[in-house]
Amino acid sequence: MSEGPRSRGANPGRIDMSVDLVIRDARHVVMADESGAALDGVTIAVDDGRIVSMGSDVPDADTVIDGRDLLVMPGLVNLHTHLAMTLLRGIAEDVDLQGFLQRVWAEEARVMDLRGVYVGTRLGALESLLGGTTTALDMYFHPADAHRAAVDVGLRHVTGPVFFSFPGPDGLSWDERMDLARAWPQTLASLGGPHVPSALMPHAAFTVGVDHLREIADLARAQGSIIHTHASENDQENADTVKATGMRPIPALESSGVLTLAPVLGHGVRLDESERRTVAQTDTSVAHCPGSNLKLASGAADIVGYRADGIRVGLGTDGCSSSNDLDMFSVMRLAANLARLVRDDPAAISARDIVAAATLEGARAVRLGDRIGTVEVGKEADLVAIDLRAPHLVPLHDPYTAIVFSAGRSDVRHVLVAGEPVVIDRQPTRVDTDQILRDAYDVVKAS
Ligand SMILES: [Zn+2]
Repeated sequence: MSEGPRSRGANPGRIDMSVDLVIRDARHVVMADESGAALDGVTIAVDDGRIVSMGSDVPDADTVIDGRDLLVMPGLVNLHTHLAMTLLRGIAEDVDLQGFLQRVWAEEARVMDLRGVYVGTRLGALESLLGGTTTALDMYFHPADAHRAAVDVGLRHVTGPVFFSFPGPDGLSWDERMDLARAWPQTLASLGGPHVPSALMPHAAFTVGVDHLREIADLARAQGSIIHTHASENDQENADTVKATGMRPIPALESSGVLTLAPVLGHGVRLDESERRTVAQTDTSVAHCPGSNLKLASGAADIVGYRADGIRVGLGTDGCSSSNDLDMFSVMRLAANLARLVRDDPAAISARDIVAAATLEGARAVRLGDRIGTVEVGKEADLVAIDLRAPHLVPLHDPYTAIVFSAGRSDVRHVLVAGEPVVIDRQPTRVDTDQILRDAYDVVKAS
């Protein structure tokens, strides 16, 4: 599926090549591959969007980044979010999921027109990149405007049409949603940006009827799209789904054919044993969102048990109206500590497993695992460089442990997406931060 590196870069021993960019002599490189390896004092060469060599040689390059104070790791994959909802940050506090949805849906009707989605997604994409997230699986209305906004800022943005069986804030009928979805692969191709799969996003089994879910599954199968939905976020959602469909969310998704497409399930907190087996057998992924789950008191997903069952677990922030930010470093630490508390075992999950969940496992869940998610020759260069000149990162015995338990998003200094430097010295290279902040205030106030 992915092209190999260009021939001049395939041999790490050669030094007579010239490349687009090198990170020279990186102090630590967290590969986040299956072996959980970390390398020290490595120069990473990037050309034509890909990592073409990693070693001691330093090829000529148009751009040279001094890596001596840097820890380089794969870009983080936020496997469940609603980027435009940055504009709803802080509007629904101290309520459970159902109270939260009531407040959010009222505010969406006020703020989230086409411009609101565009401005909110730009803000969310900027917050993501500055914090080391290079890929986001983003569910929101007006996906073309959202995608345009995210791509402008430089994010690898996986999105697609959202479905409700009733009119949402975008006011679309079911037939209009299906028309949008049928055209989505072409729309996506016309908007450019780093490679992503087409996606379809039924909101949840309690808001999309089983017959409608079946239509979505059939279309996704025909066009090769992935599916992203919410499932079993809390007990009340399970009860609401039983009321709406006669089934809990996992059986509803199974009976409609959605699970044959190995979807990504946002949350998956309240899965019973047989549902866990079904999720594992269908290669379905869970996007674990501990920040949102803790804040809404939705529950604590047993991700250690899920992984033992064979379920792929990635990490997500959820939207800013529930988690209040898009900070994947805080999500990693919460996920590690919550899993240990749930299991009453400080060795229940390792920092390496948490980093893998936030990178390679998330990439695999959106079928990008052969392109991104690790720092390896041949992969696209979605890279994050952490500034090690900080008291809280000294001394540093194990880079994986430092990432999960000591580092924070404000330590992110440089970010590459598909080889392009989109953040350099903590500043975005493609957009004006002040303008994005002003636009966000304007939309929220003016609406
Ligand atoms: Zn969500």
